[in-house]
Amino acid sequence: MSTILIIGAGGVGQVVAHKCAQRRDIFSEITLASRTKSKCDAIAAQLNNTITTAQVDADNIPELVALIKQVQPKLVINVALPYQDLHIMDACLETGVDYLDTANYEPLDTAKFEYSWQWAYQDRFKQAGIMALLGSGFDPGVTNVYTALAAKKYLDVVEEIDIIDANAGSHGQPFATNFNPEINIREVTAVCRHWENGRFVESPPLSTKRVFDFPEGIGPMNCYRLYHEEMESIVKHIPTIKKAQFWMTFSDNYLKHLEVLQNVGMTRIDEVEFNGQKIVPIQFLKALLPDPGSLGPLTKGKTCIGVIARGTKDGQKRQVYIYNICDHEACYKEVQSQAISYTTGVPAVVGAIMMLTGKWHEAGVWNMEQFDPEVFLKELGPMGLPTVVVDGGEWPEL
Ligand code: NDP
Repeated sequence: MSTILIIGAGGVGQVVAHKCAQRRDIFSEITLASRTKSKCDAIAAQLNNTITTAQVDADNIPELVALIKQVQPKLVINVALPYQDLHIMDACLETGVDYLDTANYEPLDTAKFEYSWQWAYQDRFKQAGIMALLGSGFDPGVTNVYTALAAKKYLDVVEEIDIIDANAGSHGQPFATNFNPEINIREVTAVCRHWENGRFVESPPLSTKRVFDFPEGIGPMNCYRLYHEEMESIVKHIPTIKKAQFWMTFSDNYLKHLEVLQNVGMTRIDEVEFNGQKIVPIQFLKALLPDPGSLGPLTKGKTCIGVIARGTKDGQKRQVYIYNICDHEACYKEVQSQAISYTTGVPAVVGAIMMLTGKWHEAGVWNMEQFDPEVFLKELGPMGLPTVVVDGGEWPEL
């Protein structure tokens, strides 16, 4: 039984708080801290105030250290924004506490997703005898675990992976993002990179489109190739992979709005002068767009996120498709959030369970594919995200 500190009271933080509160056998004391304490209090009220709340600026290391010393958690779950990752890791180092997050560090002024900054903490975490688990969401997170499962159980050699993320849900709003709009738009508008023959190959944002026929009644949808951070760690740790691509579905309506916003400069991440004040257009845009949390009661439909791994088994070519289907309305009924926050928050809690029960625990900085995938997936299903494996079969080359 462990005390836990969750930092970040957004869409994902709400799911993490709910799910931890369902598992009192593991999480005996729960503190939820964020920049705006009233948001923590609103989540605590949903849980009949059975958790503690606190205010913290996670960019302020001394403030974080003081909070960690006061709460004395065994683990800090960081579900604030990627900009806070290094500050929270620094505070964990100073206090000797384990760390977990769901998205890799990204500097505010460049949309540059890479693990180098966090991997640089390897020696210091090892020396301090503490663990950091990076990217324990769905993608990154479960997609890394699915790839590790393909490598462990279904294929002798994994040669190619296609990670495919479909949101077949609809919220009925003219334009909204399902998670933090700033992070989402930075990711989608970044230059695309995919892994091919030992290097990342660049292509213009959203320039490669395929149609994929999703299972379980979802049907064909347009998918666009994007760069996504899990490819960097997966190809490092499973070096037989010659090609790795990431695909995400977007509706024509979403892309039309995004194109206009980009054309008029509203997605810029640099400062501009406005009425004698400096503003960052994408941050201003975030203030105008619907709060992703408000989409919970409106969103209907399903998500389907998974990995097609191709390679060889017993000398024969073979493919395996491993995926999860998650229903927006069922998530809302359970934790008052839609499936995007749910599919991120549940794996964060399962990662925490792995660490706190010692099933995945070793000093240093780790990515999800480096541990045994089966123990993780055994916990993930009962926690709300069951895995479907289609071993064999044919899928079109993407
Ligand atoms: P939200 O914007 O809804 O929530 C972020 C929360 O962090 C807000 O409560 C915000 O506070 C808080 N916060 C921001 N800055 C600070 C700070 N300096 N100090 C303390 N708290 C701060 O984001 P989401 O919940 O949608 O996303 C959370 C994380 O999950 C992000 O890192 C995102 O990239 C990641 N993610 C990962 C996915 C995966 O599959 N791996 C998928 C989706 C998201 P305030 O309320 O005051 O703004």
